[in-house]
Amino acid sequence: MAKGYDGKTRSDYASTRPQADGAWLTKVEEGSPAWEAGLEPGMRIESVNGRPLLDIITWRWEADGELAELDVEVPGEEGLFSCTLEREQGQDWGVEFSDVLFDGIRTCVNACQFCFMRMLPEDARASLMLRDDDYRLSFLQGNFVTLTNVSDADLDRIIECRMEPMNVSIHAISPEVRRSLIGARAQRGIDVLQGLCDAGLEVHGQIVVCAGINDGEELRRTLDWVEERPNITSLALVPMGYTKYSKQFSESFSEDVEASRAVIRLIEPYQRRARESMGITRFQLSDEFYIDAREEVPPAENYDGYPQFYDGIGMLRSFLDEANLLCSSRLAELQLISQTLSDSSRSCLLVCGEAALGVTQSFLGGWSDAIGMPSGLAAQAIRNDYYGGDVNVTGLIVSCDLLSQLPDDLRGRIVVIPEIMFNFDHVTLDGDTQDHIVEEVARRGGEALVVNTTPTAMVDSLVERLL
Ligand code: SF4
Repeated sequence: MAKGYDGKTRSDYASTRPQADGAWLTKVEEGSPAWEAGLEPGMRIESVNGRPLLDIITWRWEADGELAELDVEVPGEEGLFSCTLEREQGQDWGVEFSDVLFDGIRTCVNACQFCFMRMLPEDARASLMLRDDDYRLSFLQGNFVTLTNVSDADLDRIIECRMEPMNVSIHAISPEVRRSLIGARAQRGIDVLQGLCDAGLEVHGQIVVCAGINDGEELRRTLDWVEERPNITSLALVPMGYTKYSKQFSESFSEDVEASRAVIRLIEPYQRRARESMGITRFQLSDEFYIDAREEVPPAENYDGYPQFYDGIGMLRSFLDEANLLCSSRLAELQLISQTLSDSSRSCLLVCGEAALGVTQSFLGGWSDAIGMPSGLAAQAIRNDYYGGDVNVTGLIVSCDLLSQLPDDLRGRIVVIPEIMFNFDHVTLDGDTQDHIVEEVARRGGEALVVNTTPTAMVDSLVERLL
């Protein structure tokens, strides 16, 4: 069994790589302190200043000064050799590692009723099934974690290293509701969160609101609990989503205007009090609540600088404001794009998820109004048949839905495809490649343009392609 930070065995969480084996060097900069000490790519650093090197945080924390004592393994040689790195103040060590977590990703020990992983099709890619719940990724990458697998030693380490802000899934506060919603270890998450609050660490919280489970009075209790802990500087409320593969859920807020409005009204007094006492809105609702409630999203100043943008909090407001600004600040380019499309008898199709259709159409309407002629662009929402249920966001569009819903004849069309539907390897959630989709659009006579679907990025790409 591998050792944790406290030197004890780690048995309270699963990991994708349970045997901690140090950090593999992938790059050593010539002339750097690491190079001077004889380090080379392919070597493995097992410990730094006597501490097992389990992640990049240990490295940054331990190797923060001008000296670092390392135990290193050289490929093909037995045993470890010790070396001392020395540097001048402000100098970089000159090393790069193969990863940020050297002992694997900690996986979750929960059984959340609303877990999206439990609602995936059987042929979903294995990488999509990885249920990570690693507090280090919360600090390093902003992932939400439940803290239910955090040991006392981990908590001490989070506090000692001031790993903040920590992004924490709270969901509910009453023990029985938490247990039913998250599983047997639910209380541990709240105990650890309280420890972070006691230590004054900044936390961004999240609640996945499940109708009939943690909404209504339970939601009020949870909001009360958060309100008393000012170091939780933002709390995002996100409606539970479901797919056609869910055995438990077959409806959500998306089908219930009044339920969505009830959540919006419930949160308003908390927002008001936060603005009065702390000068921030703090309690935030995801864009879906406003879409489902058929209400306008709040103004930008209510989003406190968008701390939870990538959790879907404020994306619509940001899109609308950016679109408005573009229509006034880049009028000449919009005019040229539309004129060029018209002169060459071409048009442009902007692909989006059903949830983004309204704002995309609003952007294009504003574009036409601003230039006083048809923009030459149209939006096409792709219905998500692959996941089904209420899945409707752009980031979850899959290739089979896209290709089956795009017109067979794309002659004279530029198809703007959102790059968010591809992973880092340019593969879609149903396993198709970006290259194949681009080829398929070309086979139908069109031109594909894969871009980030912010108004600015779309206009930049069209300027580059057309002008
Ligand atoms: S913590 Fe996340 S990954 Fe784990 S069961 Fe809950 S929702 Fe699923």
